[in-house]
Formats: sequence, C-alpha cells, structure tokens
Amino acid sequence: MIPVFDGHNDFLLRLLRDPARREEIWLTGEGEGHLDLPRMKAGGFVGGFFAIYIPSPMPHDAPDFEEMMNHPPYHLPLPDPVPLEDAVPVALAMAGHLMWMERTGTLQICRSVADIRAAMAAGKIAAVMHMEGAEAIGPDLDALHVWHAAGLRSLGPVWSRPTAFGHGVPFAFPSGPDTGDGLTAAGKDLVRECNALKIMLDLSHLNEAGFNDVAALSAAPLVATHSNAHAITPSARNLTDRQLGVIRDSGGMVGLNYATVFLAETGKKEAFSGWDPVLRHLDHLIGQLGEDHVGLGSDFDGATVPADLGDVAGLPRMLDAMAAHGYGAELIEKLAHRNWLAVLERTWGH
Ligand SMILES: [Zn+2]
Repeated sequence: MIPVFDGHNDFLLRLLRDPARREEIWLTGEGEGHLDLPRMKAGGFVGGFFAIYIPSPMPHDAPDFEEMMNHPPYHLPLPDPVPLEDAVPVALAMAGHLMWMERTGTLQICRSVADIRAAMAAGKIAAVMHMEGAEAIGPDLDALHVWHAAGLRSLGPVWSRPTAFGHGVPFAFPSGPDTGDGLTAAGKDLVRECNALKIMLDLSHLNEAGFNDVAALSAAPLVATHSNAHAITPSARNLTDRQLGVIRDSGGMVGLNYATVFLAETGKKEAFSGWDPVLRHLDHLIGQLGEDHVGLGSDFDGATVPADLGDVAGLPRMLDAMAAHGYGAELIEKLAHRNWLAVLERTWGH
C-alpha cells in the first residue's frame, strides 16, 4: 500500500465536540466522519497536518449554508471575529486532545521531517500540529512562541473569517479570490515571526491581497495545504493560475482538497460519483506547478468528499484511479507523501 501523508484534516474538532468518547472515536473507530485510527491503517494514511480550528458560534437564525452551497451562485456571509479570550481555551483543548492521542502510543507530534520519518518507520501516525486561523494568538505574538514550544509547526494567519491578522476569503461561487484587504500590520509581524521560528505558513484561506502580502514578505516556500484550481472550479477558495505560478516560483506546494464544493465544476457541495473532477484538478495543478509541487490535502472531517472515496479507507481507490489515468508509480508516490516531506524539509530545514 502507498503511504499517504496529508495536508489538512479537522479530526480534532470531533474530539472537541465529544471529549468523553475520545477513546472510542480515535482508537476503536465508530464509522462516523472520515478518520479514526483503524480506518487510517486500512487506507495507508501515515500522517499529516492536524488542524486546531476555533468553530464560529452559529446564531439560530443563520441561513442554511448546506442548502446555499447546493444552489450556485452563492456568497456565504463570513462569521464574526472570535475574541482572543474565547479562542484560547478551545485551542488549548484541541492541542490537549492531540497530546492525548500521542500518549496512547498511536501517534507522534512531529517537529521535524526526521520525526515524521521516525514515526512512519515506527507505525505511528505522524502528526504536524497546525493552527487554522490565529485567533488564539494575540497581536503581541507571545503566544506564538508558547505554541511553538508546544509543537506548532504550521499556521494559517486566517481561517476565512477576519482576525487581528488579516481577512480571509469567503465561500463564494463563482468568484475570484480578490475579495478585500489583506494582512494587517500585526499579520505582517506574524509572517516575519513564523519565518524566524520556521513555522510553515498556510495560504489556503487567504484572499488574494493576503496571499500577495505573504508572498512579498515570507522567505519560506509558499504553501496552500488544502486548495484546488480556480481554472477548473471558480470558487473564491481555489487558486488562480497566477497564484499557482507564484507558489511554483517560490519552491512551494499545493495540497489537493477533496471537498466536493471545491472539486465539482458546478461548485455544488453534494457528493458526486467517479473520479473525473479529482483527476481534472490534479492534471491542472501538475501542469501549472510541476510534479514536485503537488500533494494531497484531504479536508477529511471538515468537508463533504466524493462518494467513491467515502472516507480515509478509500484512499487506495483514489490512488488506483490516478494509476488508471496514466500517472506512473513515481508520480503517485510524490503526490502521496514525498512532495510533502520535501517541502517541509525546505521550510523547516533538516
Ligand atoms: Zn480549511
């Protein structure tokens, strides 16, 4: 089985919502969602980025976003900012769950590529602690150093809602990513401090101005952990060919997002059958970026995924579809894990 190292998942949200049952959810597996230890083993999922993400409080009169995303065109309103004092305990709880997973002996929180290789060799899930939106960090950035000491090695300055650091891209279709202001002064300081600490910066939820700000400031390869090709699916969350060129020239990388809403040419959220949209996006990303700069960024446990994938145990079927499409064994290995390890080496050092 080909090992898969993955750019983005929201598994920690499931433990946040049901902490009393975390042993059952992680170790035993209950068939819910996309991820658990037994299904990861079945699918060849050897590790990836585990996101710490602060859910937005939803007003009871909020519109039905699910319904809206099945009837394009749509432009979902962004939730309000989450205050620091609300975000900190949630972020700590999610990091605590990841550390509990490590204490079960089944997963290792990796701070280097050597750690990832060692975890893979030991048969433990190789987890990179990632923060999707920096709401739990104040503009003085002291907490960034605390989080780095706790193992944080990847950070997105914003999820889509606004923060002290910048403005994210809304969920809109059809729409380009040029939707508003980019990084604030604090956001630019955050980029510099992440460079200094060698924390990878994730561009996936930035709008075009924020993307340009990071590209102008950051000394590291530019990485979008879970985004697709705007030329195929014109969602505001997908990357234009110009952005893909900037990522390529920086020695960076894009992880393919399995969310149907970013894969289907229609922009619809409902699950579809077959692999055509997946392969179309991969062909385009490889064409724009080259074979060494594309990987996988599932969004498992945070999105609706293609019906034939189902969950993490379906990964071998997706890799088979790539082979049937004409991708050679070496390219599939690069997409599945080698490119991620290489870009992390370029970002973190050896
Ligand atoms: Zn995301």
